Amino acid sequence: MTKLRLTRDERAQLVAFLQDLVRIPSPSTQEEPLAKRVLQEMERLGLRDIRTDRIGNVIGWVGREDGPILMLNGHMDTVTVSNPAAWRHEPFGAVVEGRRLYGLGACDMKGGLAAMLYGAYLLRRTGLPARGRVVVACVVQEEPCEGLASRVLIEEEGVRPDWVLIAEPTDMAVTRGQRGRMELEVTVHGRAAHASRPALGENAIYAAARLVFGLELLAGQLGDDPFLGPGTLAVTEIRSHASSRNAIPDRCDLVVDRRLTLGETEAMALAEIHRVMAREAVRADIRVAEFSATSYTGYPGYIRKVYPSWVIDETHPLVTALVRAARSRLRHRPPIGHWAFSTEGAYTAGIAGIPTVGFGPGDPDRAHTVDEWVDIDDVCTAAEVYAQLAVELMGG
Ligand SMILES: [Zn+2]
Repeated sequence: MTKLRLTRDERAQLVAFLQDLVRIPSPSTQEEPLAKRVLQEMERLGLRDIRTDRIGNVIGWVGREDGPILMLNGHMDTVTVSNPAAWRHEPFGAVVEGRRLYGLGACDMKGGLAAMLYGAYLLRRTGLPARGRVVVACVVQEEPCEGLASRVLIEEEGVRPDWVLIAEPTDMAVTRGQRGRMELEVTVHGRAAHASRPALGENAIYAAARLVFGLELLAGQLGDDPFLGPGTLAVTEIRSHASSRNAIPDRCDLVVDRRLTLGETEAMALAEIHRVMAREAVRADIRVAEFSATSYTGYPGYIRKVYPSWVIDETHPLVTALVRAARSRLRHRPPIGHWAFSTEGAYTAGIAGIPTVGFGPGDPDRAHTVDEWVDIDDVCTAAEVYAQLAVELMGG
């Protein structure tokens, strides 16, 4: 059992590697310098078949040539710093104070990413697991379009995991699901007229106001799930269009953020809004927002912004294996919960149907915040838990 522990020296190497990761900026679509550093560390740690795929994901393997596959999945990109002056610790400084390592992406999720590589390294050093293999998948562009990079890896690059562990921050809890989300664009139509004679027109702002009020009522009546909680709906943007300030607006655009709980689908969510439009006599078009961006390798990524919800049963062998692995290091049974945000699991579990769980260092509430930090002891422990998970699944 003690074989799967990092030595003091290895822990120091892991922290130094994490500091490098934080010091290399990696906004979405500009992950190349970070990808090169990850690749270099994979080589140093002795992973095999290391490569960069067509969208820019970096992958490396440990274990046998065949048998079942556990994927450790983490994203290399971060959000950007909106106000550097608000940071007490320099966002790319990677300063360590006590057990805390500060910096952009320390929590979300360079801590988990570094732990994945060292978890795989522990397996390589000990010649485990007994059968099967582990693929470390460091993916791109999670922040703007979670799931796109994992879809490329699985559908286009032919990496077919039997299980996926997502190393996003969970504060060392086991997560077994998340709500889904949809981003919707609504165009409300009116009819232009001179503002001095409004009765000749049809004010798109008034129509949009009726719709917004109807959506606020709808938001209180959405589906519910005992584990994931209720679906939610929020109008997050509104913009009117008129030919001048003394003209009746003929168009008003809304953006709706819709979080889908278990059992809620895209079709249901759209039908609910269509019913509100009919009841309020609003003429409007509604469509799912689209995202496209070219990766640093030149891959033209495209995604409709629909991310399904997913839950894996608490008694599933992957969940029970992760609970055993975590308990062996934490010395207590880890709490089991779900993510409030969306992850690559929207694809791996929600679309591809691959059993997926989450476990990672860092408090999810600190993701995307000023002075983001991660506990370095937790990063090291997470690496050991990932290695132990492979043994729980594929034998010691
Ligand atoms: Zn993240």
